[in-house]
Amino acid sequence: MPRRTDLEQKALRFIMNNGSDGVLQSELWRQLEGSSREGSRIALKLEGKGLIRRERELCNGRWTYRLYPKRLPASIDSIANCPCLMCPVSSRCASSNMISPQNCEKLTEWLLFLAQGESMELGDS
Ligand code: SF4
Repeated sequence: MPRRTDLEQKALRFIMNNGSDGVLQSELWRQLEGSSREGSRIALKLEGKGLIRRERELCNGRWTYRLYPKRLPASIDSIANCPCLMCPVSSRCASSNMISPQNCEKLTEWLLFLAQGESMELGDS
């Protein structure tokens, strides 16, 4: 029988692989070949550790939970437009130098643009 921490890791990996669509708790336990009781315990544990969030959902007339990862791995697309990738002075850029990310207008603009997009996705306009 797999240890509980192994099951937690498997469960978390499966939830993360489903991304922002989330996964029904019942589907997760089917995938892990565990019992629903054990599954509920692990979901609560992952939620308690701040790794996932659970949202109640009515499925086929029964209440269950959909599990979402709190964090997703970063994708290459998320940094595709970062100004540092094509920056002509990147070799001289460091936090202790005159040219640094702390005082770079291009980087600040890009980060603000990203933050604006995220707040719009959350309905925070
Ligand atoms: S932080 Fe600014 S100066 Fe430094 S590499 Fe990125 S774009 Fe270039």
